[in-house]
Amino acid sequence: VQGAAGDDGQAPAAPTRQKLLSLYRKLHGHFGHRKWWPGESPLEVAVGAVLTQNTAWRNVEKALANLKADCGGALTSAYLLATPEPTLAELIRPSGYYNQKAKKLHGLARFIEDALGGDVTRLAALRLPRARELLLGLWGVGPETADSILLYGAGLPVFVIDAYTLRAGTRLGILPPPLVSGGSAAYAAAQQVFMGRLPPDGALYNDFHAQWVALGATYCRPRPLCPDCPLLSVCPTGRKV
Ligand code: SF4
Repeated sequence: VQGAAGDDGQAPAAPTRQKLLSLYRKLHGHFGHRKWWPGESPLEVAVGAVLTQNTAWRNVEKALANLKADCGGALTSAYLLATPEPTLAELIRPSGYYNQKAKKLHGLARFIEDALGGDVTRLAALRLPRARELLLGLWGVGPETADSILLYGAGLPVFVIDAYTLRAGTRLGILPPPLVSGGSAAYAAAQQVFMGRLPPDGALYNDFHAQWVALGATYCRPRPLCPDCPLLSVCPTGRKV
């Protein structure tokens, strides 16, 4: 991360812990606590983490509503496993890539049933690296999906990185531009910026990630709305706009 060139050819200064916490406080002061992740149970969080791949959350909500209507209440891994893949695919069609996602949900449900006795929160009994390794070993589960399940489903202190974080972090000068190209190396490097500086505090990571989502959805869009952004006073990109 350190040493990569910024917009102006200069290496962006590595953010200090104080800088990151200051950004968090400004965001929290503007948006309030985000009470993230939207899900009625740890399993619903895990299912949502798969369904949200490559689609907007409003589409996930429709797919989750279909699943909950079909199972007649709270989602369980046993229900997901007992539902044939084509049926599952039809129910989650609004989330897009539904055939792939049905297969992913079956794999995830099998893991939750077999390794966790149907209880996602049992991931918290494992060491974080081991829990993460197990999730990443599942077909179709990448770092963002695994970390979302670990943080929001099991309460483990792992920082979730997403496109919003990369875009705003780069514009703010706390992440260097090459990270925007994506990929697992970019993900790991960006994650290290936060986890290498902030205490391993699941509650902080929970709301900080949610604040990036709020910032990216509201102000730091592909065409940013800088004049109204709560971070304008500390953002080198915003000050140039
Ligand atoms: S000031 Fe503009 S570029 Fe900077 S974080 Fe806010 S919206 Fe993004």
